[in-house]
Amino acid sequence: MTVQIKPEERPLRLLVDLEALASNWRWFAVQSSGAACGAAVKANAYGVGARQVVRRLAAAGCRDFFVATWAELAELGDLPSGAQVSVLHGIAEAEMASAKLSRAKPVLCSPQQVALWRSVGDLPCDVMIDTGMNRLGLTPQEAVSGMLDGLQIDTVHSHLACADEPGHQMNVRQLGTLRSLLAELAYGRVAIANSAGVCLGKEYIFDLTRPGIGLYGGIVHPASATSLKRVVGMAARIVQLREVSAGATVGYNAAFTAPGTIKLAILNLGYADGLPRSLGSAGTASISGVECAFVGRISMDLCAVDVSALASPRVGDWAEIAFDLAQVTRTTGLSPYELLTGLGPRFHRVFV
Ligand SMILES: *Cc1c(COP(=O)(O)O)cnc(C)c1O
Repeated sequence: MTVQIKPEERPLRLLVDLEALASNWRWFAVQSSGAACGAAVKANAYGVGARQVVRRLAAAGCRDFFVATWAELAELGDLPSGAQVSVLHGIAEAEMASAKLSRAKPVLCSPQQVALWRSVGDLPCDVMIDTGMNRLGLTPQEAVSGMLDGLQIDTVHSHLACADEPGHQMNVRQLGTLRSLLAELAYGRVAIANSAGVCLGKEYIFDLTRPGIGLYGGIVHPASATSLKRVVGMAARIVQLREVSAGATVGYNAAFTAPGTIKLAILNLGYADGLPRSLGSAGTASISGVECAFVGRISMDLCAVDVSALASPRVGDWAEIAFDLAQVTRTTGLSPYELLTGLGPRFHRVFV
C-alpha cells in the first residue's frame, strides 16, 4: 500500500501572508505611479507559491506577470481574467507548438528568437534589449537594424545590472542607451525597472515595472526598507526532547558544548528545506511565545533549539521561525533571492 500523507498533516509549514504580499505590491504600484505595476513570479514566485501569488495579486489589480520559462507558465494553471504573462527566456524551437496555443508572450531575446516568432504570424510579443548587462537580449545595434520591423511588440524591456547600487553609473548609462533607441522602434510600452529599479527614481518607471523580490519581503534598496512587510515564515514540529548535561556536545562536528544542563528540542527542519547551514546558532525559533536559540550545526533535515526556558514543551508542538530576510542576509551573507528560492519542497505552503 502506498503511504498517503495529507498536506495539512505534514510536519513542516511555510506560512505565507498573502495580505502582506498584496500590501507590498500596492507599495510598488504607488511608486510606479502612472505606470502599470507587474510582478515577477518566476521560480515558483521565488519559492513562495506561484499559483496563489498570481491569484492574490490579480485580485489586487496586477495584470502583468513574468515567468522564466514556458514550463513555469504551465505550472500557473488557468490564469485569472485580465492577467497576461510574459516568458522572460523567450522561445525555443521545441516550445513553439505550446507557445502558439498560449495567450502568453515570449520576451524575444535574440535574432534567432525573432526569426522563430515571425514564423507564427503576427502574434504579440515582448522584446528584451541588452543595454549593458550582457545577459539576455538583442544588442542595441540588432534592435534598430530593422529586424523588429512589423512585429507586434507589446513591451520593449531592458534589465538593470546594478539597480541595487543606487549611485552606480551603470544605471544612468543603461537608461541612456535604452532612451536613445526608442525613437526608432514601434512598441506599446517600455519597462526597465525591477524592485530596486523602481526605487531609483521616476525616470526608470516608463510604462510598466517588473518588481519581484520586494513583493516577497526582500529589501534591496533602502527606500523600501520601512514599507515592505515580511511575507514568509516557517513552522516546524518538535520531533524529540532531550536533556543534555554540562560538557556534552550537540550535533555534527560537536560544534556546541553545553555550558550546564540544558533542555533541547529537535525540530524537523534543516538546510534541505532552505534554513541556511551558515545561520548556525544565530537563529531563534519561537515556541509557545518564547524565543529559543538554535544550538550546534544545522543538519540537512533537523536542527536543535534550547528550550530550557520553557515549562513543559511537548513532542509535536510547533516552533515558528520568523525568517527575517534582512537579518538572515546579514548573518549568512546569502542574498534574499537565494534564501527565498532555496525554500524546499517539503514545506506545506499555508496561505493566510
Ligand atoms: C527576475 C527579474 C525581475 C525581478 O527582479 P527583482 O530584483 O526580483 O525585483 C525583473 N526583470 C527581469 C528581466 C528579471 O529577470
